[in-house]
Amino acid sequence: DVAYVNGVFTPLEDAKVSILDRGFLFADGVYEVAAVIDGRLVDNEAHLARLQRSLDALRLTSPAPMPEIVEIERALVSRNGIDEGLVYLQITRGAAERDFSFPNNARPTLVAFAQRKNILASPAAQTGVKILTVPDLRWARRDIKSVALLAQVLAKQAATEAGCQEAWMVDQEGFVTEGSSSTAFIITKQDAIVTRPNSTAILPGCTRRAVMALADQEGLSVEERPFTVAEAQEAAEAFLTSASNLVLPVVSIDGRPVGTGVPGERAKRLRAIYLNFARATAV
Ligand code: PMP
Repeated sequence: DVAYVNGVFTPLEDAKVSILDRGFLFADGVYEVAAVIDGRLVDNEAHLARLQRSLDALRLTSPAPMPEIVEIERALVSRNGIDEGLVYLQITRGAAERDFSFPNNARPTLVAFAQRKNILASPAAQTGVKILTVPDLRWARRDIKSVALLAQVLAKQAATEAGCQEAWMVDQEGFVTEGSSSTAFIITKQDAIVTRPNSTAILPGCTRRAVMALADQEGLSVEERPFTVAEAQEAAEAFLTSASNLVLPVVSIDGRPVGTGVPGERAKRLRAIYLNFARATAV
């Protein structure tokens, strides 16, 4: 496998950064993940726009302009022969003597790699996913896609140990914020698709944005408001979205079946609609 580190394509096992890198020492960096389908990047403009937004929030300047980043992504896809999978990009403030304040002369680090993954024939799309809810322990700027992911790691591990595939994090008022690496949705018995509005409380999902626009085009009603765990458990259906999982039906929350406990028809339809969009617009 070939990876990219600061201007150089190199075998993955040789791809290394300094132990003084601020991504490693302080999680002082941001990242993006875009899906690859049919060897092409899905909704990549949205991912690069969010990358720029995350960089701006950290007052970081990308070491490569966005068009060059796209070239790096494409090179990783083709050099690794990825037909279906994802491309991961990370930019940190670089290596410098350890000090909390920004260094004056560090060069930002840019690393990227590609991974193969079954996106279309995902087993989770057939079976649906089980959710464990956990308190949202994260900081107050969850809208930044930073590499500070410890709370999400602990949340996902708790889910795994409970036999679940994703954790939904819950704020102090009892409302679901989002999944550890996905956006949370429910569909009410009145047929409204409900998801939390974008704010500093959640990451603005690229898949969320596309699914909401597609649902709207289909004439489905979409409500942006917070929902509680109890409302989700009582909902007709639930689902999650993320770049590398597209749309996945949710079949249980904390052991309680959602709807009839099998993937819902509307969630399956939204997955199919999103997949059509993804394939039609991938570049
Ligand atoms: N929320 C969080 C916390 C995430 O890590 C992700 C995955 N990037 C998402 C939502 C979904 O975002 P996207 O659809 O852009 O992958």
